[in-house]
Amino acid sequence: MSRLAIKGGKPVRRKPFPFYKTVGPEEKRAVMRVIDKGILSDFLGSWHKRFYGGHEVRRLEEEWSRYFKVKHAIAVNSCTSGLYCAVAAVGVEPGDEVIVSPYTMSASATAALIFNGVPIFADIENDYFCLDPASVASRITKRTKAIITVDLFGQPYDAAKINRIARSKGLFVIEDAAQAPGARYKDRYAGTLGDIGVYSLNCHKHIQCGEGGVVVTNDARLAEKVRLVRNHAEAVVGKKGEKDIVNMIGYNFRMTELEAAVSREQLKKLRRFVHRRIENCNYIASKLDKIPAISSSPTRNGARHVYYLQPFKFDQRIAGVHRDKFLNAVRAELAPTRLSEGLGVRIWSGYCSPLYTQPVYQKKIAYGKKGFPFMGAHYKGKVSYSQGICPNVERIQKDELFLNDLMHTSFTKKDLNDVIAAFEKVWEHRKEVV
Ligand SMILES: *Cc1c(COP(=O)(O)O)cnc(C)c1O
Repeated sequence: MSRLAIKGGKPVRRKPFPFYKTVGPEEKRAVMRVIDKGILSDFLGSWHKRFYGGHEVRRLEEEWSRYFKVKHAIAVNSCTSGLYCAVAAVGVEPGDEVIVSPYTMSASATAALIFNGVPIFADIENDYFCLDPASVASRITKRTKAIITVDLFGQPYDAAKINRIARSKGLFVIEDAAQAPGARYKDRYAGTLGDIGVYSLNCHKHIQCGEGGVVVTNDARLAEKVRLVRNHAEAVVGKKGEKDIVNMIGYNFRMTELEAAVSREQLKKLRRFVHRRIENCNYIASKLDKIPAISSSPTRNGARHVYYLQPFKFDQRIAGVHRDKFLNAVRAELAPTRLSEGLGVRIWSGYCSPLYTQPVYQKKIAYGKKGFPFMGAHYKGKVSYSQGICPNVERIQKDELFLNDLMHTSFTKKDLNDVIAAFEKVWEHRKEVV
């Protein structure tokens, strides 16, 4: 094989990888249908028939709940806002603790903050990177109100164990399924494994409408609270005659008819997208697993992983070189993805710094400058965000995990083979990577 690209050799591939395109003529027709009708949103922020939104939004909600086999689906304008609604609905109050993962998109932890709960970080599983049930159990106090679990990278959280812990302690489970539409655990879809689940329809996810999200639950009371928070709760509860007005301070989290129409078409494509991702990732894993220092991350027993990103572990003791240096050499062999050239080659060392390293937690400054809600008379606990509170996530992030996005639904076999060839080439030449 030729010299490594980082040493001036010819790279495996120069041509950009295909753009991640999920929309086509179907979505275009759906948008035109809405434009021709002229009603781009049909919500009213008061107690009225139109409080629940327009035709496309309601149809999306029906279709979503049928697909995921769940009683209620509520469309919102992002997964972030959906998580906020969920935290409000389960009744998190100032001084309550909410157990969260440190290894996720920041909104799955800040959701706890939004109604003035205190995020308590538990560690992640070594193999699956989701919340570790034993660590969750160790974090529970009499102040704990809820657990926000994340189906990270498309792998469902350990619903058997975490739900059992939650039930025994009377806690709510909020499931952030942003990365896992179509994933399954036993006979249920990810998103429907906890008390309330949230999907994302942002442009990076399996299916998208630009920006959007959907909240699901089998609990009618939680569903109604989510609908209220979505649409100016405080202005509605009076006339509607709601008795329980805890956290019924609303936002405008409404989805437009355009986004709903696009999402309806995207939902029809989900099954195909998921199968294609699984096929592509299995193929890449079957080849990279032959490299002794690389192992594809296993799928939980009884689960279906849907690969928002494809996780691997790298063992530097076997390779004789650190993950980051090895991956620098791999990236040099490959090309960026079309229309996101500025982001470089989409293979990453680790995922994100543990969330508790963010300034909001390190400085304990969220609302105002006096430490609310992390300290003060309302909060009887003492929360630590020090280095070392979650050793697994710190080690995995620093040395072990890498992620591959060069496998999505627009990839051909030739594209996948280039990715594999880059890893194989760098492995052959690993002694030169120092
Ligand atoms: C993308 C993502 C979110 C946020 O989704 P938005 O729709 O952009 O608000 C939340 N959690 C996780 C795990 C995500 O991947």
